[in-house]
Amino acid sequence: MATTQNFLPELVGSMSQGAAGNPTVAVMEAAFTHHGLHWRYVNMEVAPADLGNAVRGAKAMGFRGFNCSLPHKVTVIPHLDGLGESAGIMGAVNCVVRRDDRLIGENTDGKGFLKSLAPVVDPRGKSVVLFGAGGASRAIAVELGLAGIKKIIIVNRSPARGAELVTLLRDKLQLDAELAVWTGDYAVPADIDIVINGTSIGLYDGDARLAVDTHTLRPGVAVADVIFSPPLTRFLRDARARGCTVLDGLGMLVNQGIVAVQLWTGITPDADVMCHALENALGL
Ligand code: NDP
Repeated sequence: MATTQNFLPELVGSMSQGAAGNPTVAVMEAAFTHHGLHWRYVNMEVAPADLGNAVRGAKAMGFRGFNCSLPHKVTVIPHLDGLGESAGIMGAVNCVVRRDDRLIGENTDGKGFLKSLAPVVDPRGKSVVLFGAGGASRAIAVELGLAGIKKIIIVNRSPARGAELVTLLRDKLQLDAELAVWTGDYAVPADIDIVINGTSIGLYDGDARLAVDTHTLRPGVAVADVIFSPPLTRFLRDARARGCTVLDGLGMLVNQGIVAVQLWTGITPDADVMCHALENALGL
């Protein structure tokens, strides 16, 4: 008897370098299995010099899309047929979606963050402090700008990288953005509603300390961290002790996966299924 398994699966995947152990495979495949979708998610090891051929190959083989991570997030753009709004603004793509015969670059990093923030606070009209100006911070800042925040302070160690992000936010989104060069413990201004760690401080180190004067975190402020392992960073523990509402990086990661599955398949996958798969894959 014919079953759907007799047909070729729809393919999506991840183009990256050094992708071994990428937990996204488990998360995506758990969603596909749970929803009875005959789709597969495969890791593809792609060297920078082969990226153009890899994208053309994926298109030729009918891939429905793919994620791309470092070092391909920017260099993939010339090989695509178009860009979504936020990906165009930030100049980085981490998710490619086939629409008809066109490959469109999107960025789900910031969209995943916004989705995890939504149950806690509506960013519209809010004032934000964001630590970091790298890829994750850039994606978060652009999506917050598109969501209508009132203002943002970028706190970054390297003045040049911080200034570059501030200029992008001012020029492309006409956002009230300012730079605070990070030296010593940062005091969060009293009018701030949302504080985010977008740096890599705390990744795989639950004791790593973010240089913040935690006494300036007001109770009730939403405090988020992009770090997903360990999920409860020292920064979040300190913020919670101050009475802040905390959001961990696992939520952002799962929500990015949800956004990607939505973009590729059109269905809204079960968040709990994907969250459990991620926790298992990370050994949490
Ligand atoms: P980048 O390398 O692009 O940027 C790193 C940022 O962290 C820079 O702003 C850098 O400052 C800052 N930084 C690093 N170390 C220090 C330090 N000791 N003191 C002060 N600042 C520091 O990385 P990404 O933006 O791509 O990623 C950042 C983190 O976000 C990673 O840990 C990554 O795992 C996580 N992430 C989580 C996601 C999720 O879904 N939860 C999604 C994407 C990323 P400077 O400019 O001065 O060097």
